[in-house]
Amino acid sequence: MLVYAVFGDPVEHSLSPAMQNAAFSALGLSARYLAFRVRRERLRDAILGAEAMHFGGLNLTIPHKEAALSIVEPDENAAAMGAVNAVAFVDGSIRGYNTDGLGAVRALEGAGVRVDGRRVLIIGAGGAGKAIARQLALSGAQVAIANRDRRRAIELAAAVGGRGYGLSDLSKLVPEAEVVVNATSVGMRGGDPRLFDGRLLREGQTVFDIVYNRKTELLKDAARAGAVAIDGVPMLVWQGALSIEIWTGRKAPTDVMEEAVREELRNR
Ligand code: NAP
Repeated sequence: MLVYAVFGDPVEHSLSPAMQNAAFSALGLSARYLAFRVRRERLRDAILGAEAMHFGGLNLTIPHKEAALSIVEPDENAAAMGAVNAVAFVDGSIRGYNTDGLGAVRALEGAGVRVDGRRVLIIGAGGAGKAIARQLALSGAQVAIANRDRRRAIELAAAVGGRGYGLSDLSKLVPEAEVVVNATSVGMRGGDPRLFDGRLLREGQTVFDIVYNRKTELLKDAARAGAVAIDGVPMLVWQGALSIEIWTGRKAPTDVMEEAVREELRNR
């Protein structure tokens, strides 16, 4: 039996074990996926230990995605995004990948949203914002990035060929966008203040909130405005599915995985 794992800190609320074990079981693979709390300063030991013990592969989550860059051999995509969220052990080498950006694009496509040539506003320039901005730009979107720390938005925009703004520009940017992506952590906790007035949204827009632990106020505002509202679960599923494809070469059962995640969320 092969062991797979997610390393994070904290990690006890991770949905990945339920999701990935459902996938392995549907694929008929003899594999088990576990969550390990790994402290920041022990990440190297943990990755090397997993390699020594012939783990099948790893996912990395907060706070390890950036630090892993100097431990594994990142592919071009992960190096450009500045973060690794999937690790594979191949013939003695430890390879790093980033499946968050493509996971986001697959989530949008799965909801019937084309990104090529569309005006996309990404709010957030942290780890997830960087991966999504790069992938959307590669997929042909016209990208605008707004971030609380405006400097980070401008730097990211310069790297991916978009425009960078502060959050005070949202009242102008939101109505202009065809697709609005929340890639900040705002909305994870009930009671988080809104990033912008929901009345700026309208029918015909798509709102994609990558927060996946609850139905956010942003998604409620989007539904109220008649916009298409997509939560963070499909992206979570796709980043995990793409990880399985890297590790096993098999196409992952995204419908089974999504059901496992939604079931886990219902039971919390
Ligand atoms: P991160 O690297 O820590 O970045 C956090 C981002 O949120 C930054 O842009 C930060 O702005 C912004 N932010 C934090 N608090 C804010 C506030 N009060 N007001 C305005 N902006 C604020 O985190 P991350 O890894 O990018 O994750 C961000 C969110 O995405 C989390 O909720 C995470 O769970 C979710 N996520 C979902 C998936 C999925 O598969 N669905 C995958 C990855 C992440 P500053 O730069 O100004 O600090």
